[in-house]
Amino acid sequence: MTITPLMPVYPRCGVRPVRGEGAYLFGEDGQQYLDFASGIAVNALGHAHPHLTKAIADQAATLMHVSNLYGSPQGEHLAQRLVDNSFADTVFFTNSGAEAVECAIKTARRYHFANGNPERHTLITFDTAFHGRTLGAISATNQAKMRDGFEPLLPGFAYAKFNDLEGALALIDDNTAGFLVEPIQGEGGIRQASPEFLQGLRKACDEHGLLLVLDEVQCGYGRTGKFFAHELYGITPDIMSVAKGIGGGFPLGACLATEEAAKGMVAGTHGSTYGGNPLAMAAGEAILDVILEDGFLDHVAAMGDRLRQGLEQMIPNHDHLFDSVRGTGLMLGLKLKSDSRAFVAFARDHHNLLLVSAGENVIRILPPLVIDESHIAECIDKLSTAARVYVPAADD
Ligand SMILES: *Cc1c(COP(=O)(O)O)cnc(C)c1O
Repeated sequence: MTITPLMPVYPRCGVRPVRGEGAYLFGEDGQQYLDFASGIAVNALGHAHPHLTKAIADQAATLMHVSNLYGSPQGEHLAQRLVDNSFADTVFFTNSGAEAVECAIKTARRYHFANGNPERHTLITFDTAFHGRTLGAISATNQAKMRDGFEPLLPGFAYAKFNDLEGALALIDDNTAGFLVEPIQGEGGIRQASPEFLQGLRKACDEHGLLLVLDEVQCGYGRTGKFFAHELYGITPDIMSVAKGIGGGFPLGACLATEEAAKGMVAGTHGSTYGGNPLAMAAGEAILDVILEDGFLDHVAAMGDRLRQGLEQMIPNHDHLFDSVRGTGLMLGLKLKSDSRAFVAFARDHHNLLLVSAGENVIRILPPLVIDESHIAECIDKLSTAARVYVPAADD
């Protein structure tokens, strides 16, 4: 047998973390890494944050899981806090981002069904989008690398170009349910929706009775310096998926919706065995305690500005390699003039700096939201040292 016990679907690198502390990870071999990947925008409070670990430990010792057969004081409390701090009137808790997207898709379809328009089942989505790896979520992207070999996929999606408002509006027909879009594409390469684009989609939804479904799994939950990224655009969605940062490393996601948009989601229409169990809710509460603390989001915005400044100042010194900075808050991207994967591997293997590669040869820089200026200085130092000695492969 040559297949590994762990199904070999990931090209895993040589870093083998066994412990974390704040913005640092420690490998099996004792190496220390500056973690500006944060488990891909998940470890919002860094590693081993005392408030989060205590909340999880205390809850595990009290009540971990009971199923959704019973009343949930824990779920009601966290849902209420989310409702109080967002556009939403109601929340469904999941265990992952893809499940949050699934719930969002089902909620959108069910809305039109409840209105007597079951033919309005098609969500318009966008190129280089990433919505997760379930069959529904890969059907919602037109990226071949995620779809190949998994057909037949789910009907009910149409694909437009990201940031092309006219192109998206041209796809609206009698079957359209709405739009599913990331305000800032993460995997796609830290591509930000333009204000005209996102505001235009909102306006079209209002005019045509469609639903605006936002996927804020990566850009939401404080990452941009706002609680949710759509706040940067002065619009609100009808339905929204969130995950990643919401549990700070505990598997948790959520689908948020307005009362109107969720009108079809009545008893029996959806469910999850684990979703919203007391342990997950304790993790979610602990994260919210910190993120909604006075001044926390301002800290994220300030650190984001500092990091961006540092990156921008560094670019002219290494302009054979670095092109430009994109993104908002602590969801930043550094566009390279050569293969971003190769440089991410180099910075990791030779300078103990953890970053994430994304589309368009962009390096994603996604530090924990709790970093301070010393971490930023360390990151810039590692990046520029790496850039000074790095030689891109000839065929890049
Ligand atoms: C990561 C991600 C997902 C999928 O989340 P999983 O927890 O891996 O299922 C969905 N949408 C976006 C925008 C993401 O970044």
